[in-house]
Amino acid sequence: MGQSVRDSNCIFCKILEKKIPATIVSEGSDHIAIRDVSPQAPSHILVIPSDHIADIREFKQSEALGKLFQTATSIAKLEQLESFRLVVNTGAEAGQTVFHLHIHLLAGRAMQWPPG
Ligand code: AMP
Repeated sequence: MGQSVRDSNCIFCKILEKKIPATIVSEGSDHIAIRDVSPQAPSHILVIPSDHIADIREFKQSEALGKLFQTATSIAKLEQLESFRLVVNTGAEAGQTVFHLHIHLLAGRAMQWPPG
């Protein structure tokens, strides 16, 4: 397994490198999953790839992207979340604030549609 691509200014890279603390839900060679520091639902987990990739448009490996979604789904099962929402904010106008790809796993309350 090669070294992960990192950006020293990225908060999620710092979490991946354990330079800042986070509540870790799951960790593997290809990802880390943490509890969101500002939860928008009773369960709010971020599934973050190990490599620094700014957003989903930059993710060129479809197999790895599929695996990341499978990881999010496995975590939902482990957390016994019967119903959940996976969200990938892409670009500032869509609400992206951390420019290291991540999947939000949200659950534990009734969700609105369309999302705001
Ligand atoms: P987004 O707005 O889609 O880019 O999502 C970024 C998410 O990262 C937000 O929900 C933040 O609350 C969350 N976040 C930012 N910093 C941290 C941190 N240090 N630990 C956990 N979650 C964080």
